[in-house]
Amino acid sequence: MSRAEITTPEALSEDGAVELSLRPQRLAEFIGQSRVKESLAIALDAARARKEPVDHLLFFGPPGLGKTTLADLIARELGVNLTVTSGPALEKPGDLVAPLTSLREGDVLFIDEIHRLRPVIEEFLYSAMEDFRIDIRLSDGPNARTVPMNIERFTLVGATTRLGMLTAPLRARFGIVHQLGFYPVDDLEVIVRRTGEVLRVEMDAAGAHEIARRSRGTPRVANRLLRRVRDYAEVRANGRITQEVAEAALALLDVDHFGLDDMDGRLLRAIIEKFEGGPVGLSTMAAAIGEDPGTIEEVYEPFLVQHGFLQRTPRGRVATARAFRHLGFVPPAGSAEQPGLF
Ligand code: ADP
Repeated sequence: MSRAEITTPEALSEDGAVELSLRPQRLAEFIGQSRVKESLAIALDAARARKEPVDHLLFFGPPGLGKTTLADLIARELGVNLTVTSGPALEKPGDLVAPLTSLREGDVLFIDEIHRLRPVIEEFLYSAMEDFRIDIRLSDGPNARTVPMNIERFTLVGATTRLGMLTAPLRARFGIVHQLGFYPVDDLEVIVRRTGEVLRVEMDAAGAHEIARRSRGTPRVANRLLRRVRDYAEVRANGRITQEVAEAALALLDVDHFGLDDMDGRLLRAIIEKFEGGPVGLSTMAAAIGEDPGTIEEVYEPFLVQHGFLQRTPRGRVATARAFRHLGFVPPAGSAEQPGLF
C-alpha cells in the first residue's frame, strides 16, 4: 500500500511521527470496538468477493478514537493506496482534481474533519461519490465551461467529530456509517501494553492499568500519557513503569484520578465559580477560559458529559453535583445529579 498525504499535519510534530509508528498494521491488531470491527470485516470480505470497491464509509466520534487508523487499515487490508486529506485543507474544488484523478480502482480517499468541507467542494464530491464522475471547470466566472471526466471507482472514507454538522445530502451518500465510542479501561490497558512493547518500555500490569484508567477513554491520550510517563520513569526512576511511578508522573502532568486534566478543571471551575454552576452558553464559557468553543465542544465536553461532570441543556452548560464535589465545592441544593460511570 502507498500512502499519500495532501497535507501532513501529524508528520510535522515529533508526537505525530511517533503516533504514526504506533498505528496497528492489521485490522486484528485494532483493539476493541468489536462491533465496528466485525461489520467492517464483513464489508471488506463482501467487496473482495464481488471484486468491487467498498461502499463509502463514514466514521464519527471524538478525536483520538481511531478513525484515521481504521481508514489506514481498510486500505492495508484491501492492498490499495490511501490518500489522506482533510476538510479545512481543501480550499477549492480544483484541490480535489489531482487526488481524484490519480485514484486507481478500489483506492481509498480519506477526508478527515469532513464536516468542515466548503459547500462548493461538497457539491463537487457528490458526483464523484455517486457516479464516479467529476466536472472540470475550464475557466472561471459565471459562464465557465465544464467538461465531465470519469474517475475510477474508489472508496471515500470520511471522519467527523460532529455528525450533526454534516449536511443531509453528504451523509446520505455514505453506505456505511459507524460511531466510535470511548474505550473501556480494559481495552485501553491492552493498547498501553502494546504501545509499551513497540516503544520497548518496561512496565508492570498495575502501571499499565493506572495509565489506562486515566486516559479519558481515548487511545491517543493513552499513548501520549505512556510516553510522558516513560520520560519520567527514565529520569526519576529506574526506567520501569509501576503504579507508583505512573501516579507520580501523572500528578506532575496535572492528570487527576479520573483522567481530567488542567483544561477540564479550568472549564468546570469556571462554570462553578463564575457562573454559579450554570447554565452558561458555550461561547461565554469559552471566552471566560480563553479557549476555542469548537475545541471545547469536540475535545473536552464529550468525555465530561459521558462521565457525569457536565450536562448540556437547551439553556447552556451546567456543572453537575459530581463536578462540584470532585473539585472540592459543595453542590448547591437541587443541582443536577448524574450517576458516574466509574
Ligand atoms: P482519530 O482519527 O479518531 O482522531 P487516530 O486514528 O489518529 O484517531 O488514533 C490516534 C492514535 O491512537 C493512533 O496513533 C493509533 O495508534 C491509536 N489507536 C486508536 N485506536 C486504536 C485501537 N483501537 N487500537 C490500537 N491503537 C489505537
